[in-house]
Amino acid sequence: MAVIKPVTDEHHVPRSVTVLGSTGSVGCNTIDLIRRSPDRFQVDTLSGNSNVELLAKQAVDVGAAIAVVADENLYQDLKDALSGTGVEAAAGRNALVEAAMRPTDWVMAAIVGAAGLAPTLEAVRRGATVGLANKECLVSAGEFFCREVAGAEARLIPVDSEHSAIYQVFDFERPERVEKIVLTASGGPFRERALDTLTTVTPAEAVAHPNWSMGAKISVDSATMMNKGLELIEAFHLFPVTGDQIDILVHPQSVIHSMVEYVDASVLAQLGTPDMRTPIAFALAWPDRMEAPSPRLKLEDIRTLTFEAPDPQRFPALRLAREALEIGGSAPTVLNAANEVAVNAFLQEKLSFLDIARIVEETMDRMPRRNLASLDDVFSVDEEARRLATESTASTGR
Ligand code: NAD
Ligand code: MG
Repeated sequence: MAVIKPVTDEHHVPRSVTVLGSTGSVGCNTIDLIRRSPDRFQVDTLSGNSNVELLAKQAVDVGAAIAVVADENLYQDLKDALSGTGVEAAAGRNALVEAAMRPTDWVMAAIVGAAGLAPTLEAVRRGATVGLANKECLVSAGEFFCREVAGAEARLIPVDSEHSAIYQVFDFERPERVEKIVLTASGGPFRERALDTLTTVTPAEAVAHPNWSMGAKISVDSATMMNKGLELIEAFHLFPVTGDQIDILVHPQSVIHSMVEYVDASVLAQLGTPDMRTPIAFALAWPDRMEAPSPRLKLEDIRTLTFEAPDPQRFPALRLAREALEIGGSAPTVLNAANEVAVNAFLQEKLSFLDIARIVEETMDRMPRRNLASLDDVFSVDEEARRLATESTASTGR
């Protein structure tokens, strides 16, 4: 079920805003844009996981009403940091979910991983416009998430640069005229590295993305290309296309952010420099547009854009994600949960780089497809997949 609604002109100025995950990479870029256009936005709620100092600073800078730290042990620290500022402090997972219920117009969903699912769902359920960066919640709970979006008449505006690009050039009024969509991928830092040296990749090497500056988890996902696999599933849920209509193309310069090909062979694309403030600004201002300070595209300086098919041997994660989408049911939930566990273990130097895809595959094999009848089923499959992936990780070691 695709969940994009046609454009209408409903929006308030200033727009009241919640930023879930404000202390992360997407979150900080969102705050940066909001601070550059203070008349457009009134920030109500910010949240972070543990960086109390940054969270408190952001809350004071933008004049937020409440700041929530997900780690409940940090309540007193946040309260102290906000003392005398007039910003309310809250902590814990329940407080985070409650904060997402506060009646703002617009919510940035920028928590990383399935941890973002519960608060993002609350924002959806109250019919908010949601800037969706947190792709893992769509991968993990796609069908249910989309049902909630449709039921609450909430609106999702994709923040992921590829999906923002497609959103900007997709003809939602005539979806049957779309032949396919093409997700572009940079190919990450190891596109050309000798295959037999990939076992020794360090976390520092994996997070050093050639084009984009992002959080650690998505940077590792880009290096394995699981990120593009997750984006394949994300695109399937966001747009009215089948899995077979979604192609993946490696484009190392990250200038063309994705494309839509029509039945008459026209291909429409959105281009820009690789700066997340462009797709974030698109979502923040939608259906208007706002100024973003992203560097301007100078094609005369770039001169050459190149393209290649992804190498299936180098990037097994792409095959696993495609399989999960085809199998359906619980398979994407398992793929996502096992990947989160494996990436985390890799970042803690408990797993080698090549073992990430192996752990995901093993966990998928150990958990045959189940039908998911409810969100509780999603949570229980997620939990079981994490348990099995953690077990495999422990028995692999480094
Ligand atoms: P990040 O790691 O930099 O930030 C994640 C945010 O989530 C932080 O505010 C962190 O405090 C919070 N968080 C982490 N664990 C949490 C938990 N258990 N409970 C509550 N909050 C928690 O990540 P990021 O790079 O900003 O990515 C955020 C999301 O956006 C991811 O889903 C990612 O795939 C997606 N995304 C990011 C980019 C990018 O440029 N960084 C681009 C496209 C999509
Ligand atoms: Mg992306």
